[in-house]
Amino acid sequence: MNQTKELIAELKKAGIHNPKVLEAIQNVPRNRFIHSKDSHRAFKNIALPIDCQQTISQPYIVALMTEALFRHNNPQKILEIGTGSGYQSAILAYLFPTVFSIERILPLHKSATERLKALNIRNVQTAYGDGFIGWQEHAPYDGILVTACAPEVPISLLAQLSPKGGVLVIPLASQKGAQELRLFEKQDDKITSSHLEFVSFVPLLAGTHDPNISSK
Ligand code: SAH
Repeated sequence: MNQTKELIAELKKAGIHNPKVLEAIQNVPRNRFIHSKDSHRAFKNIALPIDCQQTISQPYIVALMTEALFRHNNPQKILEIGTGSGYQSAILAYLFPTVFSIERILPLHKSATERLKALNIRNVQTAYGDGFIGWQEHAPYDGILVTACAPEVPISLLAQLSPKGGVLVIPLASQKGAQELRLFEKQDDKITSSHLEFVSFVPLLAGTHDPNISSK
């Protein structure tokens, strides 16, 4: 079995059943989003390093988060916080008509934007900014996916969710340093939340960062 088929089999076994999500994982070339020295393990179910000390999640987590967006009955417009390499954005672009993605580290924002362009992915709009405040201009979103771990759920992201079944998927720090992936659903004024998985993400940090003009 080749690596991609093995990965799809592994994801199914782990409980990912949405055929569209599996198709996206199969067809988006993860090797294009990572360092070339890691190409041989691009389709393994493991997290991999990207630039600026960040990581690209393991495909199981990408698939789980993406699948959760289908809790909305017809998701069209999705916001991602934490563009990173652009891999998750490409998966979203494969499945949904309109995708927005925000990154706080300037070189990552620039390289992901270039990468998505080179892959001819045209339905993702990227921005350099602080995802804690979301992207009000294009709100409301049917789905918001946060790919870094927040101390608590940002109120502005809940506010930018569609009141007609909008879904927010976000890793939250819980007690004893553990992280939990949680799902928030908004119906009119009512917000409900449920547990999805225990996870390990890099932190969601406030403000923007350009390594060329700051030593932070
Ligand atoms: N989704 C990415 C994974 C990126 S890792 C991918 O598929 O490659 C998490 C990313 O979130 C990092 O690039 C980090 O810089 C970014 N990040 C952390 N805090 C942020 C914030 N407040 N706003 C936007 N991006 C943030």
